[in-house]
Amino acid sequence: MKLVFIACERCGKTFYCETLLTDNRLPLHCPGCDTYIDHADYVRQVGPSVSSALTRIRKPLNEATIPEILYMPEKKG
Ligand SMILES: [Zn+2]
Repeated sequence: MKLVFIACERCGKTFYCETLLTDNRLPLHCPGCDTYIDHADYVRQVGPSVSSALTRIRKPLNEATIPEILYMPEKKG
């Protein structure tokens, strides 16, 4: 897991996100102006996707499939 810094072109805020999100071309949420930045709009900042283990997963990664693909530990207590 790696972190990348993204500068929002709308409000200028810089924030970080995991390459898990950018590699899968998911929209990024800007904490500065509360909007989502599409992959097409931030790809120039992160460069082309590099291959990772996730590229071997056949299912698309989205909100519905993330719980199936990623291990989410149960909360205790
Ligand atoms: Zn913003």
